[in-house]
This record gives sequence, C-alpha cells and structure tokens, in this order.
Amino acid sequence: MPLHACLLQLIKRVQLKRKEVDDVLGGEEAWANVQKTDVTCPKCTYHQAYFMEIQIRSADEPATLFFKCVQCAAQWREG
Ligand SMILES: [Zn+2]
Repeated sequence: MPLHACLLQLIKRVQLKRKEVDDVLGGEEAWANVQKTDVTCPKCTYHQAYFMEIQIRSADEPATLFFKCVQCAAQWREG
C-alpha cells in the first residue's frame, strides 16, 4: 500500500474515534459543569482533567470514564 494511503487510513480512523466520543458525550457542551479529577493527561502530562462516567454498554457492565485535559483539551477514556 502506498504511504499516503496508509496515512489517509490512519487519519480516518482517528477522526472516527473522535466522532465516536463526541457522539457519546454530546460534543463540547457536554463538558460544561463537569467535575475535575487528579489524573495525568497522556498528551501533555498535565495533572488535572474533567471527567464523566457514562454507561455506554449494558447496565451490568462497568461504566466508561471519559476524561478531557484541563490544559490541552485532549480527550481519552478508560473502561
Ligand atoms: Zn493535556
């Protein structure tokens, strides 16, 4: 596969992932008035991030934690 095709696929995958998160959370507005917690950002290593706990699978499975860095606005999830 040519290199640029690989890159395009990678970019597409990242964008889809981001969209998936936005769909679950409802976009930027969802982060208004949420709590902050002490956690290290994987991108800039800042020590605080906003967090939300959301049940995205069946009710008997553990909820997924979503984080958004206070400093660089990077988003990630756990669970
Ligand atoms: Zn960060």
